[in-house]
Amino acid sequence: MNHLPYLQGFSVKNNEWFVEDVSLSSVAEQFGTPCYVYSHHALTQAFMAYEAACLRPDGSRRARVHFAMKSNSNLAILDVFAKLGAGFDLVSGGELERVIAAGANPHLCVFSGVGKSIAEITRALEVGVKCFNVESIPELDRINYVAQHLNRIAPISLRVNPDVDAKTHPYISTGLKDNKFGVAYESVLSTYEAAKTMTHCKIIGIDCHIGSQILDIQPFLDALDRILLLIAELSKRSIHIEHLDLGGGLGIDYEGEVTPDITEFANTLLNHIEHKGFGYLDVIFEPGRSLVGNAGVLMTAVEYLKPTSSKNFCIVDAAMNDLMRPAMYEAFHAIVPVKNKLLPTHNYDVVGPVCESGDWLGKNRDLAIESGDLLLILSAGAYGSAMSSHYNTRPKVPEVMVKGHQTFLIRERETPQHLFALERRLPEHLD
Ligand SMILES: *Cc1c(COP(=O)(O)O)cnc(C)c1O
Repeated sequence: MNHLPYLQGFSVKNNEWFVEDVSLSSVAEQFGTPCYVYSHHALTQAFMAYEAACLRPDGSRRARVHFAMKSNSNLAILDVFAKLGAGFDLVSGGELERVIAAGANPHLCVFSGVGKSIAEITRALEVGVKCFNVESIPELDRINYVAQHLNRIAPISLRVNPDVDAKTHPYISTGLKDNKFGVAYESVLSTYEAAKTMTHCKIIGIDCHIGSQILDIQPFLDALDRILLLIAELSKRSIHIEHLDLGGGLGIDYEGEVTPDITEFANTLLNHIEHKGFGYLDVIFEPGRSLVGNAGVLMTAVEYLKPTSSKNFCIVDAAMNDLMRPAMYEAFHAIVPVKNKLLPTHNYDVVGPVCESGDWLGKNRDLAIESGDLLLILSAGAYGSAMSSHYNTRPKVPEVMVKGHQTFLIRERETPQHLFALERRLPEHLD
């Protein structure tokens, strides 16, 4: 059986899939396949679900969402969230340029990542990011050095590795002792002491991020308790923390996972902070997947149906370079035909044209299809287009956003010429 995740913005009307008021087949006619399609409504609803917990009844703010833009960094997506009042969590100089290009306020950006270069730190200080989320003493030294050089004060937070098991896929778990991420829990106090001595760093926060696609609130509460202990201890040492950044990681429904309701999840954490006497802290959430994952689909067309002695293959025009998650994590994405047809159902492995056996998008799917039909690969809004590559010289696919009955092309389809435009042949006469 094909599990269908709960989707906002996408629905079936008269045996045919729609995104808001627009049929997916008309999107395919206009923009071709493969193609990513997002629902403006779904993006907004997911954001507002966080916001419902972040705002007090009197309108004052107890927390702010900083969208983890690595999950989907298209300018139009950033623009939607910026207009709703989001901040951003970014992990590279490239993402910093994107967020500025999208018109967002750099003062609402936190800069995460284990390997910030001198150039990235320089640019972030020049535009004035809200905070550097720092992961080591050498990185603190470097930030201090660059800030001194520019005659600025760098606002910093330390990313704590709380050593809790988020019980998610090993590749996307980040809060365990042996991960490369964060400052080891037992070294956090001494690292803050070191930061305090740095002339051009100002300690303003503390942060953590324990992993991704986490389905249970308990690991978040465990991490939170361990961090509140640190904040209390730091305060005794006259190190005053203003903001607490809880990272992202809330999971979504891909194949029937039961996920915490977003508002309830955020409220539980915020209430816990208040009950423990830390209500004075500004709290930051850094969700990625839970804001965009189920707001987007990858639409693809069936090229060939290929029965073999052991298996039926459904060969489509999208591939692992367009959506890496199945090949990389063996991730499940529900796959549905855009139009329900009265055809016999067969069991297929849905695969792409790339020359790798790992190039599959879904295995053992019962589908009633024929060649030429359109399929939707659901839950593809997060870590879909953002992780796509040009492998096999496959141009990146267009991205489309739908709002009501309006359709916007938010990324054009690339041509092969785009892909080798920066390459150069060797000179004619070369000995
Ligand atoms: C990836 C990442 C996030 C977002 O994770 P999701 O699982 O997509 O919510 C947030 N913060 C940091 C530091 C990250 O690296």
